[in-house]
Amino acid sequence: MEARQAARQEEKQKLLQRLVQIEIEELREKGVFDSTPHYSTLEQAASDLGRQVSRQAQQRAACEVRAGAPETVACPTCGRDCPVTTKRRVVQSVDGPVKLHEAAAHCQTCRRSFFPSAGGIGAGCPQRHSRADTGHR
Ligand SMILES: [Zn+2]
Repeated sequence: MEARQAARQEEKQKLLQRLVQIEIEELREKGVFDSTPHYSTLEQAASDLGRQVSRQAQQRAACEVRAGAPETVACPTCGRDCPVTTKRRVVQSVDGPVKLHEAAAHCQTCRRSFFPSAGGIGAGCPQRHSRADTGHR
């Protein structure tokens, strides 16, 4: 395993342990451990935490895709260059609703909207995540 990859895995492991530690602190404050809890209570809390991580990862990955979209894209119908903007929408993922920022274009001539594929330099996500902080360039 490459050194950078190993370092990332180690950091992820540390962050997961810290996240779980915070979750346990919250459960303790709620009194979950005041008596022996049913296992389903622990399972549900862990599942909710996992789903929360999943939704955040999906949202962040969609921002990365948005950041890679070009500033203009040719209309698939007439070929005219159309400006790419950011559209917000909520996607119902298997782990719950995720608010996304997606690249979208609208052709005034054809009066149609379309979603361009990534590949060029774009304005990026309104949440200001830079591509550099992911290690992707
Ligand atoms: Zn068009």
